[in-house]
Amino acid sequence: MLNLVALVAYGVLAGFSHYLVGGQALVPGIWFPSGLMVVLALRCGPTVLPGLWLGASLIGALSSPGPLGLHAALGLASCLEPMAVLLLAPRLMRSRDPMDSLHDFAGFYSAAAIGVALSIGATGLLQPAGPYAPLSFILHLAGVLALAPFLLALPAPGDRAGLQHLGAELRRPDWWALLLAITLSTLLINGGFLPTLSLTPLALLFPLLLVAGFRFSPAAATGLNLLAALLQTWFPFIGSEALPASSDLLLRSVMGRLFCGLLVLVQMVLVTNQQHRRMRDRLEQQAHRLEEVVATRTQDLTVANARLERLSHQDSLTGIPNRRGFQRTFDAEWQRALSNQLPLTVGMLDVDHFKAYNDHYGHPAGDRCLEQIAAVLAASLGRRGELVARYGGEEFVVLLPGLSPEALGPLGERLRSSIHGLGLPHAHGGSEGLVTISLGLATAVPREGLTPEDLLAAADALLYKAKDEGRNRVCLVSLPL
Ligand code: GH3
Ligand code: MG
Ligand code: MG
Repeated sequence: MLNLVALVAYGVLAGFSHYLVGGQALVPGIWFPSGLMVVLALRCGPTVLPGLWLGASLIGALSSPGPLGLHAALGLASCLEPMAVLLLAPRLMRSRDPMDSLHDFAGFYSAAAIGVALSIGATGLLQPAGPYAPLSFILHLAGVLALAPFLLALPAPGDRAGLQHLGAELRRPDWWALLLAITLSTLLINGGFLPTLSLTPLALLFPLLLVAGFRFSPAAATGLNLLAALLQTWFPFIGSEALPASSDLLLRSVMGRLFCGLLVLVQMVLVTNQQHRRMRDRLEQQAHRLEEVVATRTQDLTVANARLERLSHQDSLTGIPNRRGFQRTFDAEWQRALSNQLPLTVGMLDVDHFKAYNDHYGHPAGDRCLEQIAAVLAASLGRRGELVARYGGEEFVVLLPGLSPEALGPLGERLRSSIHGLGLPHAHGGSEGLVTISLGLATAVPREGLTPEDLLAAADALLYKAKDEGRNRVCLVSLPL
């Protein structure tokens, strides 16, 4: 199947190349089958060779007289082009795409040029071409330069993204403007309208194709190269009536060389530009990935910081706020009470005979006891701004904003009895053999000259007073004393 496709494609392209020159010239114009052969060799490997050989032999037999054996041998000579690419391309190229880098570009065209030289040499041995041999070499190479990059750049039929991209490029007005400019410049000058400027089309084509190389991806840009090659083969290489000099071998050779050079330069620009684009895309992708990583890390860090902040204000044993957490709320509530001129109450609270509890029941049991006390205190205080925190050891602190002095006594009693009511046995406890607390409560309306520390110190002093008076009791005061 592949060989049949190769055979038909070879026939079509050879026929087309002959048609473009009107079929009269001894040496045709740009020989496009050369481009096809090297592309098929690069893409499909040696399996395609029989089809190409048959195609070259058949076309030879159909286009010129001679024994079949000679045409078969000439077809084989033509196949030296794809064979050289098959052998040399893997050694001279890093990738399979001549547009991938300048290295691949040079490797591919070196392999193709060697193949063309071998093919022309072998053909010359079988059928001496005389002075036309160097021109044949140029025209075959021009065929490779014009057709191969275009065929190689065409997206595969299944490559939807590639096809869409090519479709989008072909819809761009600047692509059509370039196509029109290339066509018109070649037609106008070669068509006999300005016969004296026969070399000008190449000078005009160069900037136009260069612009295409800068602006478009390989398939769209090399499509314009191919168009230029078709137009070129139509005019200077065939000897149009308007340009009698173009039938001259020397002029055709010069034009061919110039055209090959032009295509090489234009394609070098295209390759370099492609490389630059790929590098820029890769850099952009990397920068994007880096930004994503940084964003994820920043978010992780924010979450970790928030957790750390929470933990640093929390008591690990009881789960209620620790002294630092209390201090933060205390300062805030003090400022609020100061500006609203509302009372703020602080209570210092200590478990009675807790050392003896630990000594008797053990530290783990002491821990459970502290947990239960913390839970009961937290459950007793639920109003907005109210807080219970572990101040340290078996000491707790409570904060009660907006409490009237009359409510102080009942509240203190409620806290004391809530612990007593827990009914936790204490073998060495003072009151009924149960765990109890002593509590000092101090309240004040913040004012100039009074500090949060004053209020806390007053509550602490009252706690000691409660201890001195026998424990399991509440002492309270309303500042100023
Ligand atoms: P008082 O009635 O005068 O307060 O007597 P007390 O024994 O409670 O006071 P003291 O300060 O002599 O003892 C406090 C004890 O609290 C000593 C220490 O072992 C215990 N304690 C402090 N922190 C913890 C804790 O996290 N877990 C346990 N199990 N015990 C603790
Ligand atoms: Mg204590
Ligand atoms: Mg104690």
